[in-house]
Amino acid sequence: MHKPLDPDAFFRSLPSEILLDPAGYPPEFLRGLLRAGAARALFGPGSTARGNLEIVRAAGYQSVELALSLGITVSLFTDPVRRFAPDLWRARLEEGFLAGGWLGGMMITEPGCGTDLMACQTEYRVDADGPGLRGTKHWAGLTDLADCWLVLARDGQAGKGYRFPSLNFYICRATPESFALLKRYGPAGLRSIPYGLTRIAAREGILAPLLSGSKTDRFRQIHSILHRSRISISAITCGACARIADDIGRHVRTRAVFGKTLASYGQAQARMAEIEAAREIARVLHEVGCREAEAADAPGSAGVPAQIANIAKVVATDLAFAAATSASQLLGGESYRTDTYIGRATADLRPFRIFEGSNDVLCDAIWQAAEKAAKTGGESFADAVRGACAAADRPAPSIAAFAAGSVDGALPQGLRCLGGRILANAAVLRWCVERGLPRPALQPLLARIARDLGSAETGSACAGLVEY
Ligand SMILES: Cc1cc2nc3c(=O)[nH]c(=O)nc-3n(C[C@H](O)[C@H](O)[C@H](O)COP(=O)(O)OP(=O)(O)OC[C@H]3O[C@@H](n4cnc5c(N)ncnc54)[C@H](O)[C@@H]3O)c2cc1C
Repeated sequence: MHKPLDPDAFFRSLPSEILLDPAGYPPEFLRGLLRAGAARALFGPGSTARGNLEIVRAAGYQSVELALSLGITVSLFTDPVRRFAPDLWRARLEEGFLAGGWLGGMMITEPGCGTDLMACQTEYRVDADGPGLRGTKHWAGLTDLADCWLVLARDGQAGKGYRFPSLNFYICRATPESFALLKRYGPAGLRSIPYGLTRIAAREGILAPLLSGSKTDRFRQIHSILHRSRISISAITCGACARIADDIGRHVRTRAVFGKTLASYGQAQARMAEIEAAREIARVLHEVGCREAEAADAPGSAGVPAQIANIAKVVATDLAFAAATSASQLLGGESYRTDTYIGRATADLRPFRIFEGSNDVLCDAIWQAAEKAAKTGGESFADAVRGACAAADRPAPSIAAFAAGSVDGALPQGLRCLGGRILANAAVLRWCVERGLPRPALQPLLARIARDLGSAETGSACAGLVEY
């Protein structure tokens, strides 16, 4: 009988001096891991959505970079290919990932196209020499390292379609000729993951288009891949928040300043309370993510609901970054070392609020989706916020700014983003209350809702999100 793998034990057994090497771990270390143990289980025929998310979470406890490398390979390559092109997966790719330590990634972003996918200029065209892909991409995780790519491109034959181009992902094998590295970027964090600028001029390596159906169907499928991937982001932040809380908890209990432990100072206790709460909330978000990903794998499912994926991603990444920043403050000078987990965490977790959908943009999307749902009988903004506060035994806050700020029923865009983040924190507050989280663990969510409602009241029509 096959013994089920314990991902926590597997990743705990990895040498921390390699994982926390200031220069980053070598690519061969990552490939070796993928050929063995828990990591190999990610691609096996018996892998499950929950099992894979648990692997990524457990990796995140040891190294954000390692978890993100696994997350990129699984969420941005193997999962979509297994789902949308299962025959090609089995015939051409499965063995490489199962036994060869292969890595996969996704190239969407271009120098002129990030948030706005419609501006994608990379082109797929079939001519006398067969299919070809041409374009320039940047910021793809595992640049110049991955063996396979999903490349977002517009279909040149389908015409310009400027406002709504015919987009698809193309499954490609990487060769130095087809994916030429033009420039390696010097990233501020995530030291083991290569990033850069790539020129694509591919021919033989193009295995197939990933998606089928109409232009609109494919657009929906592209988004459903990205929604699913956002769930994996909350698994990584769950591991990261737990590690930050454990490391900094040990530190404040043992570090003496002016003859007393740090843990005895009120300010340190306030920071610790927020970090502990982040751990608890991240755990709830991870559980919600596992449940939604499992449901999305059921036959006939349309995928992870956009609103849930966006809410989980925004709140998980905001809280994890805040926890890392707070832990750095408590750790003092030692937090500036790149050979410690907390020392790396602030830089490593910062871009989580930018990639996989910039949080500001997702907040706007959350607002707009809620507004649309309210028009067809769904909960209003006021009910959602007041309902969440009531569930946490708090008095109803004023939401007047959101009524006063609207001109002809339409809110200024900055206020929409602010409202979207309030809705996101309110939704997560409800999930946490439903799962019985204790009062102190709800505090960061209540504080953020109060703060954002306050800035809507005091701000002008251009009030928007303010980072912390
Ligand atoms: C570490 C890292 C890893 C990445 N990994 C990948 C990868 O694997 N594959 C890949 O394809 N890409 C990847 N990216 C790219 C990333 O997805 C993009 O940087 C992101 O989508 C934003 O695009 P952009 O940089 O072009 O910024 P822009 O589109 O110019 O947006 C910049 C900022 O403008 C603001 N903004 C834009 N539109 C709006 C709006 N409507 N409302 C409010 N604010 C708005 C937001 O604050 C946004 O962050 C990665 C980036 C980083 C930093």
